[in-house]
Amino acid sequence: MYEVAAILSKRYRDFNHYNRKNPLDELLFILCSVKRTEKVYLRAYRSLKKAFPRFEDLAEAKTKDLIKKVEWGGLQNQKASSVKALIGAVIDTFGQLSLAKLKHLDDQECEEFLLALPGVGKKVARCVMLYSLERKMFPVDSHCWQIAARLGWINSSGNNRNCSVRDMDRLQEMVPPDLRYSLHVNLVSLGREICTARKPRCRECVIFSFCRRIGAEEACQAVAKACTPPNTKRKQQSNKLS
Ligand code: SF4
Repeated sequence: MYEVAAILSKRYRDFNHYNRKNPLDELLFILCSVKRTEKVYLRAYRSLKKAFPRFEDLAEAKTKDLIKKVEWGGLQNQKASSVKALIGAVIDTFGQLSLAKLKHLDDQECEEFLLALPGVGKKVARCVMLYSLERKMFPVDSHCWQIAARLGWINSSGNNRNCSVRDMDRLQEMVPPDLRYSLHVNLVSLGREICTARKPRCRECVIFSFCRRIGAEEACQAVAKACTPPNTKRKQQSNKLS
């Protein structure tokens, strides 16, 4: 794992994916990113901050104004309602529009507080803790999960290939704390650029030699030859000839 992390760090330079230092901003940023591409959610977040620069502006805004004034890129009703619910819950929980108090909690307490907020699951809570509170967490998003499974680091504990909450804990436990930030951000970069869900470009992958490519073969018909070990290729050719 250390070798893989070092190679990825050299290639992707621990790029932070524009995540925010303020934990409440980070929550809003992640909300904007749900089911959207990077270009679209960056535009949505900037548009939200331009229309409502202060958290107080968001607290006072009506949901219909959030829908009208923010360029959400789709799902505007759902996202505007989520923002309002989140802001309301932060005021109710902390008595102020700030998550600064989280800095004084230990990791477990901090995660529990965040999980109690509407729309916040384990991945989101751990993103906020990693990016904004500098905790040594390993959020497992779809890229991290898929690549870890293809590398053969972990299997799903369920009947399918999905990542359960238990799997998130298992994978986080496997990743040494000092690697968590770097490995998370660089697996996201690799997943976006090369190791995509449907068509991983294994021939261009910097960690090809470490990868068992479990589950990747059927996803990468276009690069099937690159995914197949040489002796298997020979066998396939002789089968064709016989
Ligand atoms: S070798 Fe292929 S399947 Fe393995 S991590 Fe790289 S792109 Fe993904």
